[in-house]
Amino acid sequence: MKIPKRIRVVFASLLVGSTAGLAGTAGAAGDANVSPAAVSLEASILRGPIPDKQVVLTFDDACISHFTFVGPLLKKYGFGGTFFVCEMGSQKDQKPEDYMSWPQIRQLHDMGFEIGSHTRNHAVVTVTPPNKLVEELAYIENKCAEFGIPRPVSFAYPCYSTSGPAITVLRERGYLWARTGGSPVYDPLKVHPLLIPCASTARNSPQSLKNLIAQAKDGKVLVLLFHGVPDVPHPWVSFEPSDLEACMQVLKETGCHVMAMRDLDRFVDSKKAMVQLQSKVPTTTCQYGAERREFSLGENRAFVILPTKHKADGTKPWIWFAPSFSVKNPGEDHAWMFTQLLESGFAIAGINVGESYGSPDGRAAYSQLYDHLVQKYGLSRKACLLPQSRGGLMLYNWAAENPEKVQCIGGIYTVGDLTSFPGLRTACAPYHLSEAELGAHLAEHNPIERLAPLAKERVPILHLHGDRDTLVPLEKNSGELVKRYQAMGGPGELIVIPGKGHQVCDEFFKSQRLVDFFLSQGFPEVRSTK
Ligand SMILES: [Zn+2]
Repeated sequence: MKIPKRIRVVFASLLVGSTAGLAGTAGAAGDANVSPAAVSLEASILRGPIPDKQVVLTFDDACISHFTFVGPLLKKYGFGGTFFVCEMGSQKDQKPEDYMSWPQIRQLHDMGFEIGSHTRNHAVVTVTPPNKLVEELAYIENKCAEFGIPRPVSFAYPCYSTSGPAITVLRERGYLWARTGGSPVYDPLKVHPLLIPCASTARNSPQSLKNLIAQAKDGKVLVLLFHGVPDVPHPWVSFEPSDLEACMQVLKETGCHVMAMRDLDRFVDSKKAMVQLQSKVPTTTCQYGAERREFSLGENRAFVILPTKHKADGTKPWIWFAPSFSVKNPGEDHAWMFTQLLESGFAIAGINVGESYGSPDGRAAYSQLYDHLVQKYGLSRKACLLPQSRGGLMLYNWAAENPEKVQCIGGIYTVGDLTSFPGLRTACAPYHLSEAELGAHLAEHNPIERLAPLAKERVPILHLHGDRDTLVPLEKNSGELVKRYQAMGGPGELIVIPGKGHQVCDEFFKSQRLVDFFLSQGFPEVRSTK
């Protein structure tokens, strides 16, 4: 076992056991880089030297393959690991059989693995108020108690989003370790134990693993994250069973020590580390590696994610995303797209107006958000709209009444016709109208009937829509909208995605065409005049 010199010094000093001894030994070692402050930091955080090749294995989302495949595989290799569980399977768009039951989770515990919390509903902490987060955590803690599983001490942030208030909640509830995303290795002397980074599924492969293992040295621990093996409901994070087996083989052959997250306790005094590294806790929340600010406007909660790079010319373009009533909106699905846009100088904003279906109440709240962002944040007077699905009803109805405030519209399977989705019977309630009354006033409330003001302003529109969409059919929504828009002379384009429905897939969420559309049309000074 190779112990870095810097740490050898500290633990030699600890044996001496006095402050004088610490300074004296460090001096005797002749290492000018070791200041007494650094020595005391290490001494208070670390329980002992961290050998090279320490690896923490983590698995998220309580996928059924964790029980059927991963647990037995790890057992075969004698490896430890942490399974971060939630109840995604009880959500309405999910199949329970794709996820572990609590008795199965209990069996993983019986096999010696750690069960950590991933919240009950995969709650993204940046959009979950602290009191709600407490409920989400308490649910998993109570379930563990009911099934004879120890109360979790480890937590994984859904969608990697972290926030200062969430860290406070986790700490108060006794969590010692919490994992987010980011870099592959955890340096206990620099990183707060409730902000542990990891190498995510996408970066792991049997080939790349050796490079990652090489970074597990000098007191740093490699943390690996996997989702389902395979992950049927989330193919974009799925991992092949044969690849995981190959990864385990690499870990074994390279002599790694593979453990659960809770086993970090052997090396790190988490509570002392939290005190020492408190300054690392953000006072604001963070999403897509950018600062996310949240605020109330009337009864509604709104957010703005500030660009990671600012435009040299001082312009402040922004993407207005809708809908925003779910933790997924925007969430991990949008990371690929939004990270690029944030780096290109765009802010991303939205407001949760509940299920408005584009009602006048919802539009009024949208105008409040617009005014707030333009006046308080100095964002561009022309917003780039990104209506996803029912967000089309919300953003197009606002846009029809504010065409001069719209820079461009880039949509993902956007609803254009209220009668197609959700249908007048469902839509009428937030309009405070009967079904018949709403039907009689579609000219004032249905996006496809309200395109003329946008065409007059020549607002560029691009929609992506799948031809297998049964929830929001292509022809009646994007198809009809773009056709009518073009007939009015509006610059509209529709990209039909063959074979795809109302789903999360790269064709929609990693569309370079859509990103390029915002990059080319999103800045006031460069709108195409064709
Ligand atoms: Zn997750």
